[in-house]
Amino acid sequence: MADTAWTGMIWNDEHPSPKHEVICRHCRAKNRVLVSRAIIEPEKFICAQCKQALFLASDEPLLALSSRSFEHPLDASTLRTLRAIPGASILIKMLFKHFNERALFYNLSANAIHCGPNQFPELMQIANTAASRLDCKFNLNIFFTSIPFSNAFTSGGDKAILCFSTALLNHLTDDELIFVTGHELGHLMSEHLISRLLFELLLSGGLTAIPEIARYISLPIQLALLKWIRCSELTADRAGLLACRNMTTALNCMMKMAAGNDPGVYSRTNLSLAAFVEQACQLKQQDSQLLDSFVSSIFIRQQSHPLIAWRVLELIDWIENGNYFDILAGKYI
Ligand SMILES: [Zn+2]
Ligand SMILES: [Zn+2]
Repeated sequence: MADTAWTGMIWNDEHPSPKHEVICRHCRAKNRVLVSRAIIEPEKFICAQCKQALFLASDEPLLALSSRSFEHPLDASTLRTLRAIPGASILIKMLFKHFNERALFYNLSANAIHCGPNQFPELMQIANTAASRLDCKFNLNIFFTSIPFSNAFTSGGDKAILCFSTALLNHLTDDELIFVTGHELGHLMSEHLISRLLFELLLSGGLTAIPEIARYISLPIQLALLKWIRCSELTADRAGLLACRNMTTALNCMMKMAAGNDPGVYSRTNLSLAAFVEQACQLKQQDSQLLDSFVSSIFIRQQSHPLIAWRVLELIDWIENGNYFDILAGKYI
């Protein structure tokens, strides 16, 4: 049975669960739902007027979903700024297609295992489930490779490439892998990879020959871009949740990203999701300026999935503000 005790760490007598107004996609009637209940059992909510399901079933696709529906505001504003740098966007798309995408595909074909109908079709099935729920039309190329760290990465434009580490496959359940795949697809849908490459080139000085671009690489801009990279993870987490449609799964996955799932831990104890969520909630009560400086800190640049507890808080905020439920009720861009 799913462990849902974590909800009590967020919503309790001191901080009661908010209610959110959901408009029925069948009859347009307004329904008020208790967030703490809807997040656990969305399938049990029916419209008070027409008695039909208020939310999409877990396998129903979010047809023609635009990433603008779920982009985190901090991510969306930086994406607009980056795209506005003169000439950079076109240049990066060209570089990306011809070098990054081709080189990565070649590299993975040479070193990793390419999944298909005759090779690990089960992993293809997991990835396709996430893609179908998000209504992603990418031509997916799924790889996995033996890496001792829990990680997944994605790249590509026309040729979407997703690669899972074997450690990740060891640690996660199928549903948690759907969350991770949705997260990676979120990066593709928002074109984060293209913006990230632009950012890496800016930081490495690779574009300083172009004067219009050189002036953008002052330290404050670098820090702002680092902060954006962190914020792009928040958008991707939202896509992950829209793909797995189960907050307990999403949180378990995030806890495993921080803790791993190794015998040294699980042979001694059952990790508590409620205690993990409580740890994240305590972070919120501490110095918010310190957290903000961490988010844009250069010192954690090399961490692929930093600040897990902060991401948990941001995902909870998204649920509380109701945007997630609106999308599941069919109201999105
Ligand atoms: Zn209705
Ligand atoms: Zn990510």
